[in-house]
Amino acid sequence: MAAFKHHSTFPKEKDIQGHLFPHVCFHCKKSFKKPISEAPRRCPQCGGEMVRLSRKFSAPAAADTLQWKKVQFLVEHGFLFQSVYEPTESGGRQKTSYPATFEQAKEFVVAFKSQAVNRAA
Ligand SMILES: [Zn+2]
Repeated sequence: MAAFKHHSTFPKEKDIQGHLFPHVCFHCKKSFKKPISEAPRRCPQCGGEMVRLSRKFSAPAAADTLQWKKVQFLVEHGFLFQSVYEPTESGGRQKTSYPATFEQAKEFVVAFKSQAVNRAA
């Protein structure tokens, strides 16, 4: 009588991976993939508070100061790499891409101001 049935109760690796979000530390210019948490996450390197961004965010190289400056600027203005839309000529809307440079970011935050996320915690 082999009555014992083995069921795996562990979530699949893939499911866990699917819930990781980039958390960035602007002080260290680093991004850490972590699950969402209610409490603010602290940077494992400097202990500073990290900001959780959309999964669409991909971190620039740590040495790329200007790109990090751009990312910080966008975040400070409520753009956490969530989808941002622009109107199309046919009256619909389409996703717009995030600015490539710091200069473009300055125009971007003004143009899409209404879609900024309120980060007041
Ligand atoms: Zn840090």
